[in-house]
Amino acid sequence: MSQGLVTMSHIAASILFILSLSGLSNQTTARRGNYYGMLGMAIAIIATVMSDAVTSYTILIIALLIGGALGAKAALKVEMTQMPELVALMHSLVGMAAVLVGYANFMDHTSTLSGAEKTIHEVEIYIGILIGAITFSGSVIAFGKLCGRVSGKPILIQGRHWFNLVLLVAVIWLGSLFLAGTETGDGTVPLMLMTIIALIFGVHMVMAIGGADMPVVVSMLNSYSGWAAAATGFMLSNDLLIVTGALVGSSGAILSYIMCRAMNRNFISVIAGGFGSTSGGEATEVEGEVQSINTNETVQMLRDAKNIMIIPGYGMAVAQAQHTVYEITKLLRSQNKNVRFGIHPVAGRMPGHMNVLLAEAKVPYDIVHEMDEINDDFPDVDVSIVIGANDIVNPSALEDPNSPIAGMPVLECWKGHSTIVLKRSMASGYAGVGNPLFIHENTRMLFGDASDCLQTILKKLQN
Ligand code: NDP
Repeated sequence: MSQGLVTMSHIAASILFILSLSGLSNQTTARRGNYYGMLGMAIAIIATVMSDAVTSYTILIIALLIGGALGAKAALKVEMTQMPELVALMHSLVGMAAVLVGYANFMDHTSTLSGAEKTIHEVEIYIGILIGAITFSGSVIAFGKLCGRVSGKPILIQGRHWFNLVLLVAVIWLGSLFLAGTETGDGTVPLMLMTIIALIFGVHMVMAIGGADMPVVVSMLNSYSGWAAAATGFMLSNDLLIVTGALVGSSGAILSYIMCRAMNRNFISVIAGGFGSTSGGEATEVEGEVQSINTNETVQMLRDAKNIMIIPGYGMAVAQAQHTVYEITKLLRSQNKNVRFGIHPVAGRMPGHMNVLLAEAKVPYDIVHEMDEINDDFPDVDVSIVIGANDIVNPSALEDPNSPIAGMPVLECWKGHSTIVLKRSMASGYAGVGNPLFIHENTRMLFGDASDCLQTILKKLQN
């Protein structure tokens, strides 16, 4: 393929990626956005395969087959609830790729670059490996935390800010040694030491972040993986990779900002770690009488209500109850009841998790509301039905300054006339904190699997 055609393909793919991102920003255009993204990626892969840089098709085809097969297997096998872990794992692969490309570039002695160009290329290699190694180890720990193999509790070492500062100074110092060393052929040791430091920093950074702040980590690592890809693009002089990486990096950074705002967190405090665990006091224990109900009473409450708010959380994803939820919604709406959905920005385990599930069940977008839009409406709500949600409806976020989730805005369903909480037990949610909503005088607990309970409710409502 001629260079002109490759450049044209890169431009076309870049435009499609931009259209994809803009499509994904809205639920009604999200599907189209995905198609643009797929088309852009197909063009990018074909242009890369056909470019003059490829010298051995055998290795390329083997790599494509192995990578494609592993990707397809993971995508087919993964449960919707495991999606955040898969995404974290994918981020770690982008980081690893940046490290490997960086080392391959460093060891490639066929380069004819000299002077300033050579120095710039070496800086690219150094920064690429730095970002890649942080992304890799940070994402592996995030994966562990999301699937519960690593504790969600923040692990805070004493003097961690000084520790971070020492690592930063060491990275800068090793950088200068690396640049000086490449002239004399001594760059390997500083580069390897920096890689080890970057790997340690990635682990330390994510270990220090508490469960409730994980949404910010997920979006931040998303952003890092973009910058790692952009750095790889610089090393390989691949414009498309630079543009794509920058798009992912900047959109991930915007998402991190949105997540921080949604959780009322300061971004720097979150990535410095330990936010929400430094208040010194103990979170207040939740003690009191729980009022449980059965499905018959739930059906009666729904029949009597005019204004109903459905608040889905992670448990709805686990139970895959979104289709039944929508069947119930349709039925209640056909009885002229005002049924709406209230979505917390960090509900579930990945940004937009609930919106994806509801879209999958074909719930109309106009009855799905963001927390900010509907939080003031709760005093007029007759029944809020909380489906497998916990942290996002926890009043202690607003009332207990010692709570690990203190300051996070939540859906204030307890301000309505009554709330039904559907979950299997009194267990806490992802942040591991007790929830006073469960013992609130207006709250009724409906214990059981969300899918089973909702199917029973649907049948009883139909009769
Ligand atoms: P939570 O994790 O707070 O609560 C989910 C609840 O669902 C649990 O208490 C559990 O209770 C219940 N549950 C689980 N399975 C079922 C089932 N089959 N049927 C019925 N109930 C079930 O989830 P929320 O959505 O309320 O809050 C999200 C949390 O995740 C926040 O702390 C957020 O910070 C964090 N997080 C969010 C990310 C994001 O990007 N959105 C990323 C990482 C973390 P029980 O076991 O008793 O049934």
